[in-house]
Amino acid sequence: MERKSLWIGGRWHEAAAYAELKSPHTQETIAIVAAASREETAEAIAAAYGARAAMRAMPAHARAAILERVAALLAARREEAAGLIALEAAKPLKYAFAEVDRTVQTYKFAAEEAKRLHGETIPLDAAPGGEGRLAYTVREPLGVIGAITPFNFPLNLVAHKVGPAIASGNTVVLKPASQTPLSAYLIAELFHGAGLPAGALNVVTGAGGVVGNAIVEDDRVAMVTFTGSPEVGKALRAKAGLKRVTLELGSNSALIVDRDADVERIVPRCVMGAFSNQGQVCISLQRIYVHEDVFDVFVEQFRRVAEGLRIGDPLSADTDVSAMIAPAETERAMSWIKEALDGGAKLAAGGQLIDGALQPTVLVDATADMRVSSMELFAPVVIIGKVSGMDEAIAAVNDSRYGLQAGVFTNDLGQALRAADELHVGGVMINDIPTFRVDHMPYGGVKESGTGREGVKYAALEMTELKLVVINRQPYG
Ligand code: NAP
Repeated sequence: MERKSLWIGGRWHEAAAYAELKSPHTQETIAIVAAASREETAEAIAAAYGARAAMRAMPAHARAAILERVAALLAARREEAAGLIALEAAKPLKYAFAEVDRTVQTYKFAAEEAKRLHGETIPLDAAPGGEGRLAYTVREPLGVIGAITPFNFPLNLVAHKVGPAIASGNTVVLKPASQTPLSAYLIAELFHGAGLPAGALNVVTGAGGVVGNAIVEDDRVAMVTFTGSPEVGKALRAKAGLKRVTLELGSNSALIVDRDADVERIVPRCVMGAFSNQGQVCISLQRIYVHEDVFDVFVEQFRRVAEGLRIGDPLSADTDVSAMIAPAETERAMSWIKEALDGGAKLAAGGQLIDGALQPTVLVDATADMRVSSMELFAPVVIIGKVSGMDEAIAAVNDSRYGLQAGVFTNDLGQALRAADELHVGGVMINDIPTFRVDHMPYGGVKESGTGREGVKYAALEMTELKLVVINRQPYG
C-alpha cells in the first residue's frame, strides 16, 4: 500500500499523523497519506520562504526549461497519472487521460509564459512636469504563493496554480484536496526530477481547516490562490487580510438553445457537458433553457443519448459515468432531486442509483427556487426548461447567484451578440456549451463564482507585482 509523507524543502518529511485514503468507487483503502498539523504546514511555508531568493534570481529561460521538462516527464508517465486520477477521484479513465493531456499543455503554456512576462515603457512626458524622464515597469514575483485546490481536476487545477507561480519566479505551498493527494505528490516528484530548487514547491496534505487556515493566516504567504466551493472561498478571503487572493469558485452554469439550433447535432455535446466527471465540474452544464419550438425534440433526444451512457468502474476504458466523490455527496444530490420532484418537477431520465453511482438524471419543469436550479448541483443532474425567446432565456441564466460561463446555440448573429453583451458571467461561449475550456484562455467568474482570472498568462499576472522605475535624465539640471 502506498504511503505518502509530506513534501517539504525538496524531500519527503515524516508527519506526526496519517489518514487512510479510500477509493470513491469501491470504498477500499488505496493509500495512507500524511495529515499535516499547523506546525508542519508552517515548516513548509518556511521552506518556501527560504527558497524565494533562488527563484527570484533564476533567469526566465531556466524557469521555462524546468516547466518544459515537467511537461515532458508527465507526458512520459501519462498512463500512471491517468490511473491515479481514476483511482483517487473516480474520474472515468477516458476523462482522466484527457485531464493528463490538458495538464501537459498547461505546463507547456507556463513554460512559454515564463519567457514573455514583461512590463512596458510609460511616456511620462505626456504630463507637464514629466519631461526628461525614462519610465518603465517590471513584473516581480510576489514571493510565497499558497495554493489550495479541489478534487475534481486534481492534476490540471494544481497545474493552473503551480505552473504560473513557477513561471513568474514564485515559490509555492500546495494544499491539495484531501481526496486527491496522490496526483499532487506525483507533480512534486516531477518538479524535483526537472531540477526545481528545493523548497520552491512544497506539498502539504491534511484537513482543509487545519492546513488551509495555517496557509491563509501566515504573514510569510503573499498570495492565496484558491479553487473550490464558494463557502470555503468566502471564509478564506475574510481571513486573508492584505494578502492577494484569487478565488475560482462554483457555478450552476447555463445554456440557451435558440429555436434555429440544430438539435440533433448539439445534443451529444450537451450530454457530455452535463455528465462528464459525474457533473463534478465547475462549468458543468446544469441548466438548459430551450426555445419552446424545439423543446420537446431536444428533451427526447437528450434523454436518449443520456440513457446510452455506461455507468461503472472508473478504471474501465468504456465507462462514461461512475461514483461521485463521496457517498454523502450522492445522498445530497438525491435529496435535491426528491425535493424537485415533490415540488412538481418531472423526471425525464435517470434518478436511480446503480451500484452506488447516480444515473445521469434529467429533470424538466423545475422552478427557479428549487435547489436543483438555484444552487450548484455538482452531480450528474441537469434541468431543462422551456422559454419563449431570448429575453426570457437571458433573464433565466442571469437569475443566479453565480456567473462563471454560459453558452448559447443560435444561428442569429444579432441574438448571439446580444447574449454576449447581456449575460452576466466571466465567459460567454457562442455555439458551444458553457463547459468549454482550454488552458490558456482567461477563466474566472463574477458574483459568487469568484474573483480574479486563471488561464496561464492571466494567473501569472496576478502572481506578480507591477513595479515602476523612473529615471531622471537631468537630476541636477
Ligand atoms: P472545497 O470543499 O471547497 O475544497 C477545496 C479545497 O479547500 C480543498 O483542498 C479543501 O481541503 C480545502 N478546504 C476545505 N475547508 C477549508 C478551510 N476551512 N480552509 C481552507 N481550505 C479548506 O471544494 P471541493 O469539493 O474540493 O471542490 C468542489 C468545488 O470547487 C465546487 O464548488 C466547484 O465548482 C469548485 N471548482 C471551481 C473551479 C473554478 O475554476 N472556478 C474549478 C473546479 C472546482 P479538504 O479536501 O481537506 O477539505
